[in-house]
Amino acid sequence: MIQRIDHVAIVVNEIESALRVYRDALGLPLEHMETISEQDVRIAFLPVGDSEIELLEPINPDSGVAKFLAKRGEGMHHICLEVEDIEATLRELEARGVELIDRVPRRGAHGRVAFVHPRGAHGVLIELLERA
Ligand code: ZN
Repeated sequence: MIQRIDHVAIVVNEIESALRVYRDALGLPLEHMETISEQDVRIAFLPVGDSEIELLEPINPDSGVAKFLAKRGEGMHHICLEVEDIEATLRELEARGVELIDRVPRRGAHGRVAFVHPRGAHGVLIELLERA
């Protein structure tokens, strides 16, 4: 059902200052940076082997990511697991009693995504991704 870790997302106050650590000090290449207005975030992707680190900066104080940052501070925001068939995975998880945020996939930067509630995953927000 699960293929691999696609990315690990870290919420930060400011991408530029986080790049000084993740790009400049750790030496990871900055592959891609974009603003996703409909999700009120700026994102930067830094590949690590077969996976990536995603830096996530809220651009609107009313957004969910901004509230997460205000409440919990900088740090890990979610793990993204790549799946082959997102509908089948959601059906399977629901049948196994896992609490989902999305029962229907939505559009993400790299394909269709759905989130598993951190309450159902020991405090970790899990993103499921079926790559386009
Ligand atoms: Zn993500």
